[in-house]
Amino acid sequence: MGLEEKLPNGILLTSVEKLVNWTRKSSLWPATFGLACCAIEMMTTGGPRYDLARFGMEVFRASPRQADLMIVAGRVTNKMAPVLRQIYDQMPEPRWVLAMGVCASSGGMFNNYAVVQGVDHIVPVDMYLPGCPPRPEMLIDAILKIHAKIMDEPLGQTRAAIKAESGQRTELIPSSVRFAKKR
Ligand code: SF4
Repeated sequence: MGLEEKLPNGILLTSVEKLVNWTRKSSLWPATFGLACCAIEMMTTGGPRYDLARFGMEVFRASPRQADLMIVAGRVTNKMAPVLRQIYDQMPEPRWVLAMGVCASSGGMFNNYAVVQGVDHIVPVDMYLPGCPPRPEMLIDAILKIHAKIMDEPLGQTRAAIKAESGQRTELIPSSVRFAKKR
């Protein structure tokens, strides 16, 4: 007799890990945080045309303590870097970071002393999204990829340990140190 014949209709079997990850990815709340032109595309994504609410994500939180996704939308200046890091530190675990656009991912065309050459020097990044600016469809695609990543994450391990296992940089360089090195 097959398993499906033993179970009455309406019963689903899953693991605790999958259930917890499903609840996490189904209610990712982004921090209200836009830095430059990419933020306009991020705001558009929350509007009725693209309807981010489909993914349980329409609530952009004004307080980092209520947010678990940081979308870095725009270039990060050295002056802004400590503020960004403080907002990240105030977000509760588990938390995820999406670098939106070439400026956030690598400094983009702003290869100068004022702009951080990649936000991964300030916070650990989970997903990089190319483009200048990336369209709302691209942002939604990156968000869905983060959802898939969350579904695969093991429970009971800190985010730092997960990142270290996957070879990601976990040691964060304060912008002031980095700035001093460049000089
Ligand atoms: S990637 Fe382009 S659109 Fe986005 S912040 Fe940089 S210059 Fe602006």
